[in-house]
Amino acid sequence: MPQPIIADEDVAESELVTRRGKFRAVAFADGGHEHMALVHGRRPLREDVLVRVHSECLTGDIFGAMRCECGEQLGAALDTIVREGRGILVYLRGQEGRGIGLVAKVRTHVLQDEQGLDTVDSATSLGLPVDTRDYTPAARILSHLGVRSVRLMSNNPDKIASLEEHGIKVTARVPLLMPPNANNIAYLRAKRDRLGHDLPQLDQFAVRERHG
Ligand SMILES: [Zn+2]
Repeated sequence: MPQPIIADEDVAESELVTRRGKFRAVAFADGGHEHMALVHGRRPLREDVLVRVHSECLTGDIFGAMRCECGEQLGAALDTIVREGRGILVYLRGQEGRGIGLVAKVRTHVLQDEQGLDTVDSATSLGLPVDTRDYTPAARILSHLGVRSVRLMSNNPDKIASLEEHGIKVTARVPLLMPPNANNIAYLRAKRDRLGHDLPQLDQFAVRERHG
């Protein structure tokens, strides 16, 4: 079944010149949150569009926190889109800490720092779900923009499954691998080992650690 298109009164669009390049900024009210798509290059973009679906991470995206790789991925995705000349970044709000919210996310950080729990156990020990993110708004936004199939910049197989389930064909997955650092290596390993993310760059970090 085709995705319902978002109503006109819930969409606004303008030009947005950024340090990384020039985009059309399309704001959407959908799914109880306001989201934004940054569209680069000549439209329409329909098939095999280079796309990043990025979940909001205030600490990583805005403050440059090094305990996750979100901010680096955001910048790298935008740079890749600009380099290719065409593509879309969908920025999903209301997805802090894989959906638990900002206050709860910071509580998990306390447990990670003080008790050595990983990103999964620190959530479950607070009685919180590990991942409640809903990618339906991303699929609706992409459909609204006329996109039918994407090359998705992601390391997360769940994201691909969810977009496909909601009518966006993923013709390729483009890895978005950030070099790990001492602050986020444990987090990234937990994402790889416990959440099934494909993060082959971590193996090299282990080698580097051993050889000093
Ligand atoms: Zn983050």
